[in-house]
Amino acid sequence: MKAIVVDDSRTTRLVLSKMLGEIDVEVSTAGDGREALEVLEKEGAPDLMLIDWNMPVMNGYELVEAVRADSSYDSVRLMMVTTETGMENVMQALEAGANEYVMKPFTKDTILEKLAIMGLGSGR
Ligand SMILES: [Mg+2]
Repeated sequence: MKAIVVDDSRTTRLVLSKMLGEIDVEVSTAGDGREALEVLEKEGAPDLMLIDWNMPVMNGYELVEAVRADSSYDSVRLMMVTTETGMENVMQALEAGANEYVMKPFTKDTILEKLAIMGLGSGR
């Protein structure tokens, strides 16, 4: 399984990469939405993208819109991982095409649970 972790926090990128690495996910990272689109173009569609909301240059919501505008990425599961926990934000992201929504701070169990819901990963 391949994933792209998109977050402007280096610490969050490291934590998520480590969690995913432990279940044998191959991880690429990006620091903002624009960089994530570059990684997508270069590496092709991953199985999963974990996407922060608040980032410079291009935020996570705009990234979800951009990915969903390209049908060649239809199979990519998009999971928002964010401090934007308002129901409005959740609805907005899901309407734009996000598959799952995780609130920060997250636990490994939460991430694994959401992966399982999306039909990804072994569970633990
Ligand atoms: Mg951020």
